[in-house]
Amino acid sequence: MTDRPDPGDDLRGLLADCVHCGFCLSACPTYLLDAAEPDSPRGRIQLIGQIADAGTVTPVQAAHLDNCLGCLACMPACPSGVRYDRLIEHAREQVEEGHSRSRRERILRGFVFALFPHPARLRLIRPALWVYQRFLARLVSRLLPGVLRDMAALAPEVRNLRSGSLPALTPPTGPRRAVVGLVTGCVQRVFFPEVNRATAQVLAAEGCEVRVPRAQGCCGALSAHAGRTEEARRFARGLIEAFEDSGADIVVVNAAGCGATVKDYGHLLADDPEWADRATRFAAKVRDATEWLAELGPGAAKRPVELNVAYQDACHLRNGQGIVGQPRTLLNAVPGLELREVAEPGVCCGSAGIYNLLQPDTAARLGDRKAEQVRATGADVLATANPGCAMQIRQALRRSGSDIPVMHVMEVLALGLADQPDAEGPFSAGRRSSSR
Ligand code: SF4
Ligand code: SF4
Repeated sequence: MTDRPDPGDDLRGLLADCVHCGFCLSACPTYLLDAAEPDSPRGRIQLIGQIADAGTVTPVQAAHLDNCLGCLACMPACPSGVRYDRLIEHAREQVEEGHSRSRRERILRGFVFALFPHPARLRLIRPALWVYQRFLARLVSRLLPGVLRDMAALAPEVRNLRSGSLPALTPPTGPRRAVVGLVTGCVQRVFFPEVNRATAQVLAAEGCEVRVPRAQGCCGALSAHAGRTEEARRFARGLIEAFEDSGADIVVVNAAGCGATVKDYGHLLADDPEWADRATRFAAKVRDATEWLAELGPGAAKRPVELNVAYQDACHLRNGQGIVGQPRTLLNAVPGLELREVAEPGVCCGSAGIYNLLQPDTAARLGDRKAEQVRATGADVLATANPGCAMQIRQALRRSGSDIPVMHVMEVLALGLADQPDAEGPFSAGRRSSSR
């Protein structure tokens, strides 16, 4: 949480902050599902203490900690200000170092981390995924090994063979109000290039010169959330370096999970004398795209978008960055658009980075719950601000028989820009779809 003081790394002090009151229990998605104490924030904090005392991790302790989504919904619910984010970070590192995983888990994790943080490798599999989704999925999905079948089912839909890339510089469409750098993400840039295009389009329409450093790689979010801290630090140094000479006043991120990690670079690199100050300076410039647009204030001319739009908070935006009102304010400002709320907005959809790959059963239960709540809004489209959430909720909606499109908030905002080419996506501007 960016608005809480960083307590440092004193594990005992962090643990002692918890007074076991249980106010966090009802906010926790895994506790909501089964009401099991070891799958609650309070229970996990006790497990983390036990692990610290014993200096070892048992398989059962590892399972309950692995089952934590890292959604941080427990933090705003806690009256004692317990830094669960720091506690689970410690715990993930200990599990990663001290727990021997099954062969299946090792293969799956190895595959995920060899692929997902590497856009060049993701780009290589994109055509194969397009062919699989168009022609082979129905025929051969049953023949795939379980791990590959799960991954294929959760993979983003490849809309066309071209992934394209943003120009290194997009000029503002009117007078220049700011120079911003855009973090394009790994999965986002390869599988959701239309989201990055929409983001650049909206920023440019609002008077931003958008710079996209070519050398940028992964931000390290997946690694950081999985306890692979050294790997996360390597990625962080690379991203800072890529942006330092860009001349950007502000660095914009449009993926909530990435944004939460990048804003925390000062903590991640605090013990590195060469990088600590650079990391803190860089992190101070970082904004979520909706946060930055709200800060900048409206400038672009709008056109009507006659859509009912349900908005689902991404956990790393709502709980990780405290960004709740800004996306809603921006969507509400689009003429003709009716914003609808999804029930339990603070409850995770089950995506949580790569959680839906590693814990598919719990993730599917949370996804089904979320899909039902989205359908109950009667909205034409669901908007969210994270690629993982988009993939997870789209998949859950399909399982439920719904074809409600899922869009990034920036794609919806791009629909509402006057004097702009239509953004790619399931809707053209100004058209309300048939009622759902
Ligand atoms: S984490 Fe906070 S809300 Fe939960 S039991 Fe501990 S003190 Fe209470
Ligand atoms: S991070 Fe989310 S899943 Fe984990 S204990 Fe907190 S509320 Fe529960």
